[in-house]
Amino acid sequence: LMQLSVPLNFIGFVYREIRQGLTDIEQMFDLLEVEPEVVDRAGATELQIRQGAIAFKDVHFAYDPERAILKGISFDVPAGKTVAIVGPSGAGKSTISRLLYRFYDIQGGSITIDGQDVREVTQTSLRKVIGMVPQDTVLFNDTIAYNIRYGRPSATEEEVQAAADIAQIGTFIQTLPDGYETKVGERGLKLSGGEKQRVAIARTILKAPPILILDEATSALDTTTEHEIQSALDVVSKNRTTLVIAHRLSTVINADEIIVLRHGTIAERGSHADLLSQNGLYASMWNRQREATQAEEQLRKVREND
Ligand code: ATP
Repeated sequence: LMQLSVPLNFIGFVYREIRQGLTDIEQMFDLLEVEPEVVDRAGATELQIRQGAIAFKDVHFAYDPERAILKGISFDVPAGKTVAIVGPSGAGKSTISRLLYRFYDIQGGSITIDGQDVREVTQTSLRKVIGMVPQDTVLFNDTIAYNIRYGRPSATEEEVQAAADIAQIGTFIQTLPDGYETKVGERGLKLSGGEKQRVAIARTILKAPPILILDEATSALDTTTEHEIQSALDVVSKNRTTLVIAHRLSTVINADEIIVLRHGTIAERGSHADLLSQNGLYASMWNRQREATQAEEQLRKVREND
């Protein structure tokens, strides 16, 4: 029996390794799934980035032909400015960010960066100039330093740490058992949603792209985490053309323009103050969210006094 138990243990070990390998592959496919048959046009040229101005002109898009998601959307993100997209769940906000990154091709209209249609340039050159902080960051099964350095593999240790500090995750990393060498991901330390998002922000700080897409996490974060992430994002988006996909409204107050999307069309647009005074969809979303936040705060106070 002794003789048998060793190989069985070994088989168990191999089995676990293979299973882990499969989860990694599944994750990879999850990532690839959002990228179907978009291919470079024959003779596609490199995107020539100047100031990094984005223009959506009469954009029509549907994932499947029966159901239009965007029905003629037009807006500009002038170079260095921040535009936020808000609206009810399912309105098509994240779709807009996927289209700018060209995960899908549109069925009508155009999307340009510095006057160049995203369909006319190579995907590599397009994605090189865009930094994406996604809703849900997938971490590699490697050290936290590796995960941050991924934004620019040539970055030095000091640069990695500086990026982590700006992203408000540096202090947290120092408390980990092996600091920057701590293994994270499925096989290592599991980070919370807010921590993962700050790793993604640190990565983006190292990449230093002229254009930034911030797809906010849908899930509610606690107020402190939200403030930390917000101040990290303010630093990265400063003087960069930034498109914010906002699932919460607290982050959009300072945007140069807020676009309110509903059923695939632009229902309202303007600054935070403009939209509040219009007393329409944005104002009602804002009031609802404020009430919800106040209720949460009150609940927390009651719990603390218990
Ligand atoms: P939320 O705030 O809930 O994240 P959203 O405004 O970002 O919503 P999108 O993710 O852009 O919404 O989705 C818009 C619509 O498109 C939704 O009805 C969604 O079900 C649909 N959709 C999203 N991705 C796909 C896909 N890959 N295939 C088919 N339909 C999709």
